[in-house]
Parts: sequence; C-alpha cells; structure tokens
Amino acid sequence: MISSFNTTDSYVKDNPSPQENAASGKRKDAPWLQRYGEAAAALASGILIAAAWSIEQFSHPWAVALYLLAFVVGGYVKTKEGLQTLFQERDLDVNLLMVFAAIGAASIGYWTEGAVLIFIFSLSGALESYTMARSHRDIAALMDLKPETAVLYRDGEETTVAIEQLEVGDIVLVKPGERIPADGTVTEGASAVNQASITGESIPVDKSSGDEVFAGTLNGPGALFVQVSQTSESTLFAKIIRLVQEAQSEMPASQRFIERFERIYARSIVLVTLLLILLPPFLLQWSWNDTFYKAMVFLVVASPCALVASIMPAMLSAISNGARKGLLFKGGAHLEHLAQTKVIAFDKTGTLTSGRPQVTDLIACQGYGETEMLRLAASIESLSEHPLAKAIVQTAKERGIETDRPTELTSLTGWGVQAELHGEVWKIGKPTLMEESMMTQDIRTAVHRLEEQGKTVVLMANTRGIAGVIALQDSIRTQAKAAIAELRKKGIKVAMLTGDQQRTARAIADEAGIDLVYAELLPEDKVNRVKELKQTYGNVAMVGDGVNDAPALATATVGIAMGAAGSDAALETADLVLMNDDIEKIAAAITLGQRTRRIVKQNIVFAISVIALLICANFLEGLALPLGVVGHEGSTILVILNGLRLLR
Ligand code: ADP
Ligand code: MG
Repeated sequence: MISSFNTTDSYVKDNPSPQENAASGKRKDAPWLQRYGEAAAALASGILIAAAWSIEQFSHPWAVALYLLAFVVGGYVKTKEGLQTLFQERDLDVNLLMVFAAIGAASIGYWTEGAVLIFIFSLSGALESYTMARSHRDIAALMDLKPETAVLYRDGEETTVAIEQLEVGDIVLVKPGERIPADGTVTEGASAVNQASITGESIPVDKSSGDEVFAGTLNGPGALFVQVSQTSESTLFAKIIRLVQEAQSEMPASQRFIERFERIYARSIVLVTLLLILLPPFLLQWSWNDTFYKAMVFLVVASPCALVASIMPAMLSAISNGARKGLLFKGGAHLEHLAQTKVIAFDKTGTLTSGRPQVTDLIACQGYGETEMLRLAASIESLSEHPLAKAIVQTAKERGIETDRPTELTSLTGWGVQAELHGEVWKIGKPTLMEESMMTQDIRTAVHRLEEQGKTVVLMANTRGIAGVIALQDSIRTQAKAAIAELRKKGIKVAMLTGDQQRTARAIADEAGIDLVYAELLPEDKVNRVKELKQTYGNVAMVGDGVNDAPALATATVGIAMGAAGSDAALETADLVLMNDDIEKIAAAITLGQRTRRIVKQNIVFAISVIALLICANFLEGLALPLGVVGHEGSTILVILNGLRLLR
C-alpha cells in the first residue's frame, strides 16, 4: 500500500530529470494511462468480480476465469510494486503480503474473497495515487504565482523581464543573493556562487570576468553582469519537480518509523503465517483446510495496510490544502514541526514591514548638494537588492536624477554595501559600519534624532569621511498587527530579530505589538538568537525575507520565507514559503499542522486497534475470511479518507 509513497516511487522515476525538463522546456501532462490507469484497473476488477459472482451458480469454470482476470487486472500494479521492493531492496512490503493472501484464499476455493481483497486493495492504491497527483498539481499551480524573472541590462537601462524572454547575447544583471537566471559568461563583477543545485557541492565557487555560470545557481555577495549563452526555458518546472521530490523524500519522522516498522512487521507476519500453516495440524490435529483458512485470515487482518496508509495521504492532502492557500510546504515533516511551534521570530525589514521604505530625510555633507549626494548614493546602491537600496534608487529616479553604475560591488550582508564609483571607494550602510573617527558630534545627533522617530538611518562615506545621511521610513504591513495578535492568541511567543538599530527596532515593535526585541543583529547573531530561543522554548519558527535571514531560517525548526518579497536565498533555505507574503496565513499554517497531527494520530490509533481486534477475533472466535477482508481493507480505506479530509 505504501509503495506509491516510497522514494523509489514510479511517478518520480517516470518524470524527466530537472535538467532534461529544462532542456525540453515543455510541461508535459501525464498520459491518460498514467493518470487514470490505476483507478480504471481497480474499477475494472470490481466489475469483473460482480460479473463472476452473478454467473457463479450457472458456470463455475467461467466464474473462475473471470475471477482470475479480476486478479490480474486489479493486482498488476501492486504486484509490480511488491516485486520491485523484493528484488531491488530485497525486502517484503504489504503489497506482496496482500497478493500472497489473495492467492492463498483463491487456492482453497475462496475466489470471491481473494478477488475482493485485490479489488479493494487496488482501490485504496488508486486513492493514494490520487492524493499524490493532486498535491503535485496544487503545488505546480502555486509555483505559477511566482514567475521567474531576470534583470536585463541594455543601453544602461535595467528592465525586469520573464526569463523566457532572454536571448543569447543579452546581458543580465545578477544582484547579490539572487538566482542566476540563465547559463552564461561573467562579463563584469566578482562574486562567489553556490552551485549546489547542479553540483551538489555547497561551498561557493569564486566567479569573475570570463567565468562560466549556470542557470539556477545562487549568487553570493557580489553583483555580476552575465552574458547569456543559452536561453534557459522554464526552469520553473524543474524547480517544482525538485520541490515535490524534496517533499516526498523528506518524510516526517513518524512515516519513516512506520516504513521501517512495516518491513520488519511484514517479515514477521510471513513467518507467523508459515508457522500457522505448518504447526497446528501436528500440534492440535486441525485439518489442513481449517488451518490454512485461519492462516490466510491472519495474513489478511494482520497486514499493516491501514497503518502504513495513516500518514502520507493525510500529509499530502494537507500540503495540497496549504498550496491552495498560498502556503508552499516543502514536506510533511515541516507540518509536524509547525504544529508544535512555541516561538515565532520575525525579521523586521521586508517581513513585518512592507519592505518598501520611503526616503524621508537627506543631509548632505562634504559640500555635496542634495542632488549630487543622492546621485552618488543611488549609483552605489543600484546593484544592491536590499529594500533600503531599492528605496534610495527609486527616490533618485523620481527626482529625475541620472545614476551611474559602480564597479566591484560587494554586499556587506547585514551592514550595507561597498563599491567603487569613478575610481573612489564608497561605503554605504548602517551607522556602526562607519569608522568611529568619522562620526562627528553633528552626525551623531542627527542619527539619534532620526532613529527615535522610528526611521532607519543609512550613512554614506568615502575615504575622507561621511558624505551624507539618509533616513528612511518603512511602514508596517497592514496585516502584521492582526497576524501577531492571532499568533499570541494561540499561545505562541512572538519575537523580532533585526539588523536595524535598537531605537528604530523598538519603535516598530511597539507598533506591531511585539515585546521580545533583538536589534543590531548580524546574520550570525540572528542564528545565535534562534538557537537560544530553541533552547529556552522548544520549536522555533523563523520568518524572513533577506539573504541575511537565510542562515537563521536554516537554523530554526521551521524556516518560513516571504515568497514574493523574499530573496532566492531565503526561498531556497525555507521549509515553508508564503507565496503572497501573507504573514496573516502563518496562524492558518499552524492550525493546518495541528489538524494534520490530530488526524494522523486518529488514524494510527484506529489502524492499530482494528488490527488487534481482528487478530484476536480470528484466534478466539474464528473469523470468516470475507469479514476479515472487509474489516481490514475497510479500515485502510477509512484511514485514507480520513486523511483526505485535510484537503478541505
Ligand atoms: P533586517 O534584519 O531588519 O532585515 P538587514 O540585516 O537587512 O535588516 O540590514 C541591517 C541594516 O544594515 C539596515 O538597517 C541598514 O542600516 C544596513 N544595510 C544593509 N544593507 C544595506 C544597503 N544595501 N544599503 C544601506 N544600508 C544597508
Ligand atoms: Mg529583511
């Protein structure tokens, strides 16, 4: 029963690998047979059984022939899966147990029971395949919400285009922390690129002018200009396949336990069945037929079909359900973890706030005019992906200021950026990034005053000193307050982690209703805070958007990334992606996790009780095979249907 969820699953194998798919670029629908074959076969075997049963009184041989056909049609898929486990993994699974039991029943004349067993078994298999296909589809639909884009650089203009529109020879700009949109050659800039998605090696590789880079790999701290050498058609689908594969291989701990248990249990059942066939005739002088009958009933009712089907259909249904709400879970395990979350830590910029700060104050120094200073700041920030950088560039644009492009940009993650412009080295970022000696009393006072107003202050400096002060005000997301109130109502502690200054952070936290505030954190400090929270409270979920949040997302029990505003680094690391940046949906995600846990628990208790009950009945009272078949397979179907409730 379980085999449709094994990692060696045929759905995954039958699909082209991400690379092949990216190359062919077309989204192929599964052929009809693959989509409906299993259900059709199950139904056909059901019809055959009905036909056989109705002609049984008139012609026994014909009835047997029809039953045989029902066996073959209904049992084909499951037998194949069972044999695969047997030969490839040298192990027994429930598939083979069921096939044995059905053949055993037929061999002592119980054709109908054997055939019904096969029929219901194949039906439950089809149900499981349906859940799986459904979750594939829902996830695929979800991924369409986030089109993949590239920044095209042409005649000094930056335009954002869909990656399908890229042509060979185009120059694309890859900002720090973004995914490289197409295969190509670096023409300018230097960075370290994480190529784990193609090589599996996550240690970043240094790239500079002339080096080759690959679509789908993750840019590090530098900005790169890349000349496209190959049009990358839809890598989106490749990504979906990978995500879903991840979702399947990353089974929840409970599922992994049950699978291990299944293998051992299946072997023991075969052993006990053999003993039951061989011993009683000698020890208890039972007749061969009686013994064999009882042994077959045992084989049927003791098989852990229902137990094995307790978890994955429920998990996949929950993943589907989430997908339709804009919650992309990268696996069932995360649902389980989220259900037990004690603390949620939010990043500030881009997560609690809209991430679209407005420039409110400009103070120019060193004799620069305001326009000149803004031109310099926007030029330096033009290659950065940080929300503050975008705001500064936007303001310059609005004022009709022409900007230049810096060379050798390095993002000092969590601090700011450093770049060379017109042969001069510039730094722009938080006040603490600047040298102490540059911070004159006037500047200190200005920074202090602006921060108390809840504004984020950014300073720019060259080697001569501070050249300007820029203050930006970010607004809290409209749903932030409600989202936090809802989480607190669930008894979950809420914290804020930010790289921003203490005063600014405090002002924003007060507005959002958060009491636990950790400010002035570097990316590695965020990681340490998350570790501390884990130690103090238990399961921690971290919500973030930036490159600087990625390490903390990875450290948290559940990492949650903002889908639309989030950087690729955050999306990559997270366990759950909020496709529409809806932080309000986090509470719903937790509820979904809790419902899933509850349903899985119900299923497991129910499955074990039914098995125990039927085994006892068989030995104490004697159980009719038809009853055993219906009880056992019925419980399996019930458990799956209970899991499917999570679709709603
Ligand atoms: P948060 O944790 O709130 O998302 P970050 O860690 O991204 O904030 O940034 C922390 C601080 O570093 C910002 O408040 C800002 O002062 C500074 N900073 C980071 N990147 C930049 C940049 N590109 N330009 C200017 N300042 C920056
Ligand atoms: Mg952020």
